Amino acid sequence: MIAEGVCKGCALCIAACPVKVLDLAGHLNLHGYHPARYRGSGCTGCGICFYVCPEPGAITVYKIVEPKALAEEARGA
Ligand code: SF4
Ligand code: SF4
Repeated sequence: MIAEGVCKGCALCIAACPVKVLDLAGHLNLHGYHPARYRGSGCTGCGICFYVCPEPGAITVYKIVEPKALAEEARGA
């Protein structure tokens, strides 16, 4: 998830994403930057974009874990 209002449009996250699922939006945010945006699919949850982003709070990475996998992890399987 990218917080548009915090993003400065530096594009570091776009260059760093190994699966190239980020780009810059065509519109401007409140600060006059084209904010980064997620294309909507293909993210692996690796977190690289989070670590390269210089703006605290601009990127939050959520990794979707299937309930079955969680149950297996809880059982120690
Ligand atoms: S967490 Fe997703 S969007 Fe971010 S660098 Fe990894 S694959 Fe790309
Ligand atoms: S690295 Fe951070 S500030 Fe730069 S474009 Fe990506 S989200 Fe915006």
